[in-house]
Amino acid sequence: MEEKEEKRYRRIEEWQKIISEWAVTKGFSWTKKDTNTMLLRLHSEVSEAAEALRDKNIDQFAEELADVFIRLVNLCGVWNIDLEKEVAIKHNKNIGRPFLHGRVYK
Ligand SMILES: [Mg+2]
Repeated sequence: MEEKEEKRYRRIEEWQKIISEWAVTKGFSWTKKDTNTMLLRLHSEVSEAAEALRDKNIDQFAEELADVFIRLVNLCGVWNIDLEKEVAIKHNKNIGRPFLHGRVYK
């Protein structure tokens, strides 16, 4: 039985390829020299998420978080960064960190 497209779960690496190819079809042929622009656009999606949350628009909040992911994997694609691998490495580092990272928050 064929799975419906919207219910298929993809690996981050697969999304990275799909999004990078899609971006080119829409005229966004990013290169490393566009990194600052890409970072600013990534940041703007975070701001849009904050704005949606402020407006209590949870559907929009979810969509903006998806935009954050899309911008992030697109940027990682430009730099040939294996985000899935980097997340696993960083998570393992985080696991070893002390409770509240050893700080006292007041
Ligand atoms: Mg957006």
